[in-house]
Amino acid sequence: MGGIGSGRQSSLPKTTGNSKHIDIRFLRKQGLLVPDGRGTLSWTRNGQSAGNVNIRVESEKHIILSFYYRNRLEDENWLKRECMIPLSTTPCQFGGVRHWLNCPRCMRRCEVVYMQETSFYCRQCCRLLYPTQLEDRHGRACTKRNKLYEKLHGNCRPRMWKRTRDRLYFEYLYAELDAIHALSATVDFYNRSLGWRK
Ligand SMILES: [Zn+2]
Repeated sequence: MGGIGSGRQSSLPKTTGNSKHIDIRFLRKQGLLVPDGRGTLSWTRNGQSAGNVNIRVESEKHIILSFYYRNRLEDENWLKRECMIPLSTTPCQFGGVRHWLNCPRCMRRCEVVYMQETSFYCRQCCRLLYPTQLEDRHGRACTKRNKLYEKLHGNCRPRMWKRTRDRLYFEYLYAELDAIHALSATVDFYNRSLGWRK
């Protein structure tokens, strides 16, 4: 059974990157945003199943998420849970509508809601950080450099004009230099902290 359990908390701070979530873009891609749309979303962590949730679009106004859940610390049995996430739409510039999820707690319009206990809420209500907020300057510089490298050399790189590629390449070089400077500053900071260098 792909249930979802709560248990001992990880020592890592909770971020948008390590929290179970539902993304409206996933629902759109799966073609679920139609009356009576149904689908399943499975989560994995470190290659292992981390639970799944069944999604049912009951009307234009809301979706129903159903899943099995237990609180391991309370030694609960698996129980089927359901929660409702409101939906809303805004008009697109060239026709049609854009769908949004609404946080059931604050009703904020959002693209992603995150699991907290037995329901799903927006990032602010769950008090989640973005992963980059945990990174130091060197980490942020490396993330930026890696993203640029992926754009230039990754398997999914888009076709681009030479001028765009040149611009990205220079941005990549600057990001690489920034990462080196940031690493050097970090090493210097620790050397001074440990008294290895005045
Ligand atoms: Zn909220």
